[in-house]
Amino acid sequence: MSILSRLIDLILPPRCAVCGKVMNEDKGICDECISQIDFINHDICYRCGNPHGNIVDKKGHKLCPGCAGKRRGLFRLSRSAYSYDDFSKKLVLDLKFNDKTDLAPLLAKMMYVAGQDIFAAGVDVIVPVPLHYTRFLKRKYNQSALLAKELSKLTKIPVSYNSLIKKRITKPQVECSGIERIKNLKNAFELTPSQKLSGKRVLLIDDVLTTGSTLAECGRTIKKSKPRSIDTLTIARAL
Ligand SMILES: [Zn+2]
Ligand SMILES: [Zn+2]
Repeated sequence: MSILSRLIDLILPPRCAVCGKVMNEDKGICDECISQIDFINHDICYRCGNPHGNIVDKKGHKLCPGCAGKRRGLFRLSRSAYSYDDFSKKLVLDLKFNDKTDLAPLLAKMMYVAGQDIFAAGVDVIVPVPLHYTRFLKRKYNQSALLAKELSKLTKIPVSYNSLIKKRITKPQVECSGIERIKNLKNAFELTPSQKLSGKRVLLIDDVLTTGSTLAECGRTIKKSKPRSIDTLTIARAL
């Protein structure tokens, strides 16, 4: 450690981004908080990323009962860093609504680790799930775009912020029930005339996967541009 960084640590000691506790080493999040996160890191279904990959296919990939024996759907591969529970929820909500944008690099690192199969399969462009511009003006940032930007720094893959836009305001998905969630988002997204996603391997980024309706609607919209493949990567996933 250099004298300068030791001095900075004395004045501004690194703190855990979750609980605020002072840490000896700047790792973003303390050991205690990290141990409470339920990372999705074993028996992952190679295709949809849920932790029930207990069937091995001809290529040696683990698949879940829902994906085994079926043709690939809208998405090539889907991954999430951790399970969306009461503890991990706080991290996502802080980033999304409480202006804790300094969490983005830490969360993006977790997504980078979770997305190794996706990056190994190859990605040409990262596309964040967009916000309607009125929401953007109110919130001042799009949390998915922040995560996309941090992932781009880690992977050197470019981000396209203006290929996909949200063309109408929708009710928050949490206020909708099952079928209503799909109806609420129908035709809510649009490709812009400047998009160049044709033939590209697209990685779609969002914060949380609950029922998957947002990612599915974005995926269906992106598919109109005839991309080579679409993968999805989120911080958390409701299991
Ligand atoms: Zn902590
Ligand atoms: Zn699966």
